[in-house]
Amino acid sequence: PGLQPEPDYTFKILLVGDSGVGKSSLLLRFATGGFEELVPTIGVDFKAKVVQLGGKTVKLTIWDTAGQERFRTLTSSYYRGAQGIILVYDVTRAETFDSLADIWLREVDMYNTVDECIKMVVANKTDLAEQREVSTDVGVQFARAHGCLFVETSAKGNVAVEQAFEELVLKILETP
Ligand code: GDP
Repeated sequence: PGLQPEPDYTFKILLVGDSGVGKSSLLLRFATGGFEELVPTIGVDFKAKVVQLGGKTVKLTIWDTAGQERFRTLTSSYYRGAQGIILVYDVTRAETFDSLADIWLREVDMYNTVDECIKMVVANKTDLAEQREVSTDVGVQFARAHGCLFVETSAKGNVAVEQAFEELVLKILETP
């Protein structure tokens, strides 16, 4: 009691995407259950969380660029060994969606070292329905075309955040 079980697996999960799309907020929501108006910080940060899924105990180390993406200085070491990569855009800013194809998917393909790495596209800020610029359909088609899972979330409204991480982990677990 009180002791964490030894994990059956440890997975490295990355969050990538333009500044301001909600990467830190998604991580904070998933790792601690909270939501704060975040003060941007600089430097790579990660949080660890142990989950029970598919009958396994899985330790996740989830890495957030924490502002470094603004300087385009994410390096190969950030990507090394990641079993899961979450590509985040903001549904109210179409340019953040365009960046997935223009920047983030390219970088993932260039630096990722894990053959069976699972990619997931996360469309965040769905609570801002009036300001939406990228439809669900466009997001779904893009994810499908690039072999990625797809989930729409609101880190602020706590919609589907846990589901997104769990879906990713289950997919990693079932990949040989
Ligand atoms: P990052 O730069 O990608 O890590 O983005 P942040 O997590 O710092 O979020 C950028 C801004 O968007 C902050 O003001 C957050 O409070 C806000 N934000 C993040 N997620 C959501 C969301 O789901 N809905 C709304 N309305 N705002 C959000």
